[in-house]
Amino acid sequence: MSYIWLDGKLVARAEAKVSVFDHGLLYGDGCFEGIRAYNGRILKLKTHLARMFESASLIHLVPAYDLEEIEDAIRETMDANQITDGYIRLVFTRGVGTLGLHPFRCPTPGTFIIADKIQLYPEELYRDGMAIIVAKRPRIPIDCLDPRIKSLNYLNNILAKVEAIEAGVLEAIMLNTEGSVAECTGDNIFAVKGDRIFTPATSTGILHGVTRRFVMREIAPACGLKVEEAVFELDELLNADEVFLTGTAAEVIGVSKIDDTVIGAGKVGPVTARLIGEFRRRIAEGVPED
Ligand code: PMP
Repeated sequence: MSYIWLDGKLVARAEAKVSVFDHGLLYGDGCFEGIRAYNGRILKLKTHLARMFESASLIHLVPAYDLEEIEDAIRETMDANQITDGYIRLVFTRGVGTLGLHPFRCPTPGTFIIADKIQLYPEELYRDGMAIIVAKRPRIPIDCLDPRIKSLNYLNNILAKVEAIEAGVLEAIMLNTEGSVAECTGDNIFAVKGDRIFTPATSTGILHGVTRRFVMREIAPACGLKVEEAVFELDELLNADEVFLTGTAAEVIGVSKIDDTVIGAGKVGPVTARLIGEFRRRIAEGVPED
């Protein structure tokens, strides 16, 4: 039997229901986090919780529980489902309200936590690299929606993901409305050129990825490498020696092809392989929770 933590208590999965009047459902009004557990430890839990509470604050949502209560609830949900390795989904919804948009007519935000097994990209993609495309649809500009908000409305990314699926691949690069490389639908992106590693600056309008930060601040430096934030166009990505993606679910994964352009030698390059190796070594030794 599996359990969901819903508004303060664990309930059986079949009983975990949210009202049709919840603005999380009616308007995508809410925010979420995707978090990974490895060997009973939760990778960068503190950073994920900080981002969650920042998302909530940026949408003027006052969470029903404080950070410590949410941390305890996550561990309680993992224990109840005997999850030591898996995926944790934390969601705050605006809560039940009227049919109008008015968010403050929803008196109590909804809170739920799911702890489950994770669906990973196939292992051969980590060995051989993955093919991706460039979506025609740009990322929502930063002035329209602050991408630091990991909101419940993912339609911009979902429609770009549909472009990927229709092209027979699993990810799509999203450019911003100025034509600069931003990120993928659910992953951040990096390019290797010579001995330098670049990733789009946050000013391009990207989610401030927890894995991106982990790679920039810990994984790359442990390999003697440095990541530079920059603003660059698609042709620089297509001419890179290596391209790789980062994300909570993806971890670090190499890109072999973008549309019809083979990247580098068309397989996982040496820098990406080192970063994947260091990432896996850190998992094996016990992931940092802060
Ligand atoms: N960009 C987007 C749009 C995402 O949804 C995600 C998370 N799936 C990422 C990047 C990667 O962020 P993180 O490393 O925090 O999972």
